[in-house]
Amino acid sequence: MMYSMDYITPSHATEKIRYAIREVTVLARKLESEGRRVLYLNIGDPNVYDFDLVEEAKEAAIWAIRNHKNGYAASEGVAEAIEAIVRDAGERLHIRNILGCYTGHGASECIDIALTALVNPGDNVLLPSPTYPLYTNVLKRLGAEIRYYRLDSGHGWEPDLEQMKSLIDGRTRGVVVINPNNPTGAIYPESVLRGIIGIAKAHNLLVFSDEIYERLVLSPEKHHVSMAALDDEVCMVTFDGMSKAFLGPGIRIGWGIVTGPGARLAAYREAIGHLVRARLCANHPFQWAVRPCLEGGQPHLPAMIDKLRRRRDLVLQKIASIPGLSCIVPEGSFYAFVRVEGAEDDAGWCRALLASKGVVVVPGSGFGYRELGAGYFRIVFLPTEDTLAEAFDKIAEFVEETRSGGGAPC
Ligand code: PLP
Repeated sequence: MMYSMDYITPSHATEKIRYAIREVTVLARKLESEGRRVLYLNIGDPNVYDFDLVEEAKEAAIWAIRNHKNGYAASEGVAEAIEAIVRDAGERLHIRNILGCYTGHGASECIDIALTALVNPGDNVLLPSPTYPLYTNVLKRLGAEIRYYRLDSGHGWEPDLEQMKSLIDGRTRGVVVINPNNPTGAIYPESVLRGIIGIAKAHNLLVFSDEIYERLVLSPEKHHVSMAALDDEVCMVTFDGMSKAFLGPGIRIGWGIVTGPGARLAAYREAIGHLVRARLCANHPFQWAVRPCLEGGQPHLPAMIDKLRRRRDLVLQKIASIPGLSCIVPEGSFYAFVRVEGAEDDAGWCRALLASKGVVVVPGSGFGYRELGAGYFRIVFLPTEDTLAEAFDKIAEFVEETRSGGGAPC
């Protein structure tokens, strides 16, 4: 290959890396710099709104910084943190067959490490559609093929297991399950999780179970089940961290828990060991926050869930009152995935909404999702009720204007 003598050319691996959740803010910031009021409903960071990192985490990190915990930590993680994660997974989530656990810079880094340890260029991994875009980006960087399995909007956004099976061939290595789901807010019943486990076992797939919203169950009649608790023989990595339920996305602490039959996973675990050592360690002082957070009874959670539930219900009421908009009730997390009839160019629809009304939402296609005859957008219902009401009044005006103007602008 010949490189230009005039320019520094970026790698091919970066050509397809996109993260729609943040890319929409480029136009938003431009509008703000022109003096426009902008309402951000795009980012899943509670600290942008009226939430703050839990006190236990702040105190523990300050203690750690003052008590000489500022050097490199063990690569897998600080022993106190690892022990607390393993204990919590065993006692609260009923996960029995834990082989190992590692911490990283957010669940994001743990996911990156877990996928990197598994796939070779040309292998394929099953991702949900819609999906959380981190998975897409990591797999593209690794030269892996992405095969999307369908989340069925006609069945509460549950995975379509028959279609999932039809995607599998000799190069399929893993399946990603996000439960509770981002962007749909769905929580999967045990029967569906058992179905995925059956498929994974039949085809020797590693299951990546992303449970970062596991504590944020908003509907009292719903119950989150950790997939790893359902089967001792399936090979799995479960992800969680401090970003969502403990309100600390900026402290960058997450973890991966490897479960399954030890002999079958030995080489894979060794590969994870190489990768965690190669990047030294996760943020050291904040690893000391893990144990007090997990063992402190999480006193902030009931009020937080109550607040999120009220905000979700307001959003659902607003959506129901706007012609052409609909949404399946998000049972967990803090996202709503909203259907807009007729807006097939969802990215164009979202750009026009932002330009005309100053409301920032993320197009469904940014999550790898398209549906015939409709577009989707994702919002976070983390903002205050006043902000959400204002944003949805503007969305209602926009829908009204575009409908009377003969369709969605592109
Ligand atoms: N997984 C899912 C499903 C997410 O929604 C997010 C963040 O929004 C992450 C992982 C990343 O979490 P972290 O901040 O711990 O890297």
